[in-house]
Amino acid sequence: MKGISSTTTAVAQRNQEESGEQKLEEERSSMMTGFVMFIVGLVMIMGTHSRVTIPRDSIKELIQKALVESMAQKQRDLIQGDKELMEQDPEVMPGFFQGDMAGMFDGEDDLGRVGINFKQFPNRKWPNNTVHYLISDLYVPEEYQIIKTAIDMLGFFTCITFKEWDGDKPDYLIIWPVQKPNGCWSYVGRLGGPQIVSLQKPDKKSPQCFAGLGRPLHEIMHALGVYHEQSRPDRDKFISVTKTNVLTGFINNFDKLASTNVSLPFHYDYNSIMHYGTNFFSKNRKNPTLVPKEKGAKIGQRITLSQLDCLKLNSMYGCLDDEAFDKRKYYTICDFLGLESTHASVHKTASEEFYCDIRLNQDYSNRRR
Ligand SMILES: [Zn+2]
Repeated sequence: MKGISSTTTAVAQRNQEESGEQKLEEERSSMMTGFVMFIVGLVMIMGTHSRVTIPRDSIKELIQKALVESMAQKQRDLIQGDKELMEQDPEVMPGFFQGDMAGMFDGEDDLGRVGINFKQFPNRKWPNNTVHYLISDLYVPEEYQIIKTAIDMLGFFTCITFKEWDGDKPDYLIIWPVQKPNGCWSYVGRLGGPQIVSLQKPDKKSPQCFAGLGRPLHEIMHALGVYHEQSRPDRDKFISVTKTNVLTGFINNFDKLASTNVSLPFHYDYNSIMHYGTNFFSKNRKNPTLVPKEKGAKIGQRITLSQLDCLKLNSMYGCLDDEAFDKRKYYTICDFLGLESTHASVHKTASEEFYCDIRLNQDYSNRRR
């Protein structure tokens, strides 16, 4: 019996052991199933999570970000990189031609005009006076609103139409906070294809390109084809360059445009939003590099278009060439809504010395009749 008993006990024990093993196996299997389910669940949650937190627009945004940065890369080889530039005005920092003008064409600096001569370079003008634009989603609503207001203002001041990019038009402005090079910068005139206008977001150092509407207006004015005011060939009558205060190696940013075969349809404009500030490219940012010759004249405003900036754009885009009503309309808008020039003596001198397509003295009143 003992043997049977012991055999029975042994069988029972084996059965128990087998049952235990089976349980263990079942538990192991259950744990595995649980683990697999956990992983599947985690993946599903992560999948759901990623679908929730990275919407399609943001993925598109990331792709565009890479695209915009690689587009900017093409310009980076051409810049005059310098650590000192990083402490300068955000229009000087990019280190392009005259600080913020990217992709200048050969021979363009010989034109000697306030803006691109569209008769000579018709492709640089935005066709049908229409500019399509895309504003980066990387901007917060307040920054977006500043850019949009600047665009709306340019549209209101002129016969140029601005439309949001529809995803199809081949030529359009991409308004973007480019990382390298950062700062406020733009190409001059239409390039063809997507075209960057870089507006650096505010940071701990400064509001960068968002202190107001001025910087966005200035850079978009470049994109429409307008150069810097102080590079005019006649500027030495109105402004002195203090070369000793200019950062070493950057004096060429104060070059004048050639005066060959030049007609200057507008007076020199201290009030222009396209004029350098008094300490641009200054060695210590305090000693002036540009000093107006007229006593009390101030330069480098970045508030809004001057009266003449407004007329320059309207003249370049033929807004003053059409019906009498349109002409009167844009003269009136520029007169009342742009910054008025406070330097009457400069106007008088300039109108006597230069050929003027548009005069703001006695001819102006005639146009309004
Ligand atoms: Zn500029």
